[in-house]
This record gives sequence, C-alpha cells and structure tokens, in this order.
Amino acid sequence: MELLENRIRKDGIVKAGNVLKVDSFLNHQIDIELLNEIGKEFKRIFGNEGITKILTVEASGIAIAAIVAQYFNVPVVFAKKSQSINLDGSVYQTKIESFTHKRVYDVIVSKKYLSPDDRILVVDDFLANGCAADGLIDIIKESGATLVGVGIIIEKGFQDGGKRLRERGVRVESLAIVDSMNDETGEITFRH
Ligand code: 5GP
Repeated sequence: MELLENRIRKDGIVKAGNVLKVDSFLNHQIDIELLNEIGKEFKRIFGNEGITKILTVEASGIAIAAIVAQYFNVPVVFAKKSQSINLDGSVYQTKIESFTHKRVYDVIVSKKYLSPDDRILVVDDFLANGCAADGLIDIIKESGATLVGVGIIIEKGFQDGGKRLRERGVRVESLAIVDSMNDETGEITFRH
C-alpha cells in the first residue's frame, strides 16, 4: 500500500534491535485518516469472506482493529493480558511473548465472545516473529471458530513470522512488508 509505505519512509524511525518506531502515526499518536484507508484496504482484501469478528491483542491492536471493524460492520474482540490464572474454564488462554517488551504474557479471551460459527480476521499492527499471531490462532482453534486470515499493517519480512504462518497455510496479508531497515542510515526498503 503506497500511502502507507510513503508514511513509513517519511515518519518511521529505525531503532537498534530490529525495532521500527511508528509512534507519530500508529502506536502513540494515531492518524485516523490513514487508519481509515487501511480499513478500506482490508475490506477490499477480505470483504467477501463472511467475517463475523475481528480479533486482536491489547493494547496497540485495539485502535487499529476498531477502525478496521467499521468497514466490516462486525465487533472487535481483543485478547487481554491477564495477571491471574483463570481456573473456572470460562476463558481461552494462551501465552504470547512480546517482541518489544521481551517478556511472556498470559492472554485470555472469554468463551462468551468466540464461537464455532465465527469467521475471524486477526488484525495487528506488526508481524515480527509471529508470537502474537500464533497465540491468537491458538485461541481461535480452541474455540472452534474459523480463521479466515491475518491482516497486518507492517510485516518485517526479514523476521520469520510471516514465512512460518504462510507455510502453515495461514492467509497472511500485510499492507507493507519491510525488506530491510538500517538503524544507522535510517533507510527502509520494501518488498513488493
Ligand atoms: P511478533 O509477535 O510477531 O514477534 O511481534 C508482533 C508484536 O510485537 C506486535 O503486536 C507489535 O506490537 C510488536 N512489534 C514487533 N515488532 C515491532 C516493531 O518493529 N515496532 C513496533 N512498534 N512494534 C513491534
């Protein structure tokens, strides 16, 4: 998506450790006009798939998923990071290792909000090693719902999450795929 690539080139900041900061339009301040274009693009890609819910993980996924969901007219469910282990069987639970925070979170989704009739689109801001997507897919599997695909705003193509998911047969659609980025020069290249 050219608009997105241009914005990443203009405002993205490459940090050491393969981290791309997009705080000025996606992860801290949010450009709603851009997110609307992203929502339209996901609708164009996944619009004929009978999606009934959009699933993401807190915190940064929520705003994105909420705007995208307006184009599908479906609810958003977000996996919550949980401190306590739920023993009463009312939630689906999995572990997600955070790429940016380098720690493992337990995340939960109430069983009330996913059912075998659901057709789910997973949405997230970044795809790096694929831990967040893996965790959400585990939860979808456990619920018996159908995973339609994974919609990512920025995939870092030099990390292996996208490759692994696609090899497993998951439909991954990324609106921008970063091929390389250099924290010394700030240069970012994209895959097409
Ligand atoms: P993964 O689970 O695929 O390794 O990483 C994806 C998650 O880590 C995303 O939800 C995103 O919040 C965060 N993340 C991964 N790489 C980056 C990055 O380069 N920049 C930012 N801002 N977040 C990232």
